[in-house]
Amino acid sequence: MNTESTKAVIVTGSTSGIGFAIASRLYAEGWRVTLNGYRTEKEGADLCAKMPGADYVDADVSTSDGAAHLVKTAVASFGQLDAVVNNAGVAWRIDHSDLDAVDDEFWDKIMAVNLKGPWNVAKAARPHLARSSGQIINNASLAGLTTTGSSIPYAVSKAGLVHLTHLLAKALGPEIRVNAVAPGYIDTPLTHEWQSVRDYVEDNAPARRLGDPEDVAEAVHGVMKMGYVSGAIIPVAGGLQVL
Ligand code: NAD
Repeated sequence: MNTESTKAVIVTGSTSGIGFAIASRLYAEGWRVTLNGYRTEKEGADLCAKMPGADYVDADVSTSDGAAHLVKTAVASFGQLDAVVNNAGVAWRIDHSDLDAVDDEFWDKIMAVNLKGPWNVAKAARPHLARSSGQIINNASLAGLTTTGSSIPYAVSKAGLVHLTHLLAKALGPEIRVNAVAPGYIDTPLTHEWQSVRDYVEDNAPARRLGDPEDVAEAVHGVMKMGYVSGAIIPVAGGLQVL
């Protein structure tokens, strides 16, 4: 029997893109998966029809109530919680030099989903993960490690998530491991139209190609199996981080 087959995981923001690839990979590895998105009930229902046994919970992880509802429903369904993948995130492109285009609403939305979201879910999940010697994997970004990214607020939110990963690894050990992946440019609905970035990556990344959502899922599944790794940030960027 697959040793992963009794374990339960929540993947936030899994109705699309990278989150969907992560949820599909873990499902294929035998995990019992709770899918999540916000105002994506139709997509969630369609995905559950293709993944028998998986659940979907519509919840806004940027609010503590939404995160608590997500965790409570997942634990009620599967009776335990062994891992959380904090993947939900939002991004819109604003040139870093265009400070005037960034307003309060933009900052608040980005920080609420990308940084407070993982905090909210970690806080709600902590007692359950502590019981199962579980783990948290955050989906950060290369933008949180280098001076790149779709906008300055986005990059700062991901830099915050990198530091949150370090702080939670320290605070929640030894019961809970906390790690992050830091994708570079991954071909998803979020990034599909960003042609200039696509060209740059194809010309310059050591891998000379964009990443696929499945590349990130591979890394997430890999780090989940590394029992002695905590507080690590793993670039999944075709080598872009060395440029
Ligand atoms: P996507 O737009 O395809 O998917 C985003 C998902 O998040 C959707 O399921 C959406 O419903 C969900 N979501 C949005 N707001 C939410 C909220 N408040 N509560 C719950 N769910 C919410 O995006 P993607 O490209 O797959 O990105 C997924 C993650 O990967 C994000 O955190 C993003 O910052 C990160 N990332 C993406 C890239 C890339 O190149 N695509 C690179 C680095 C990091």
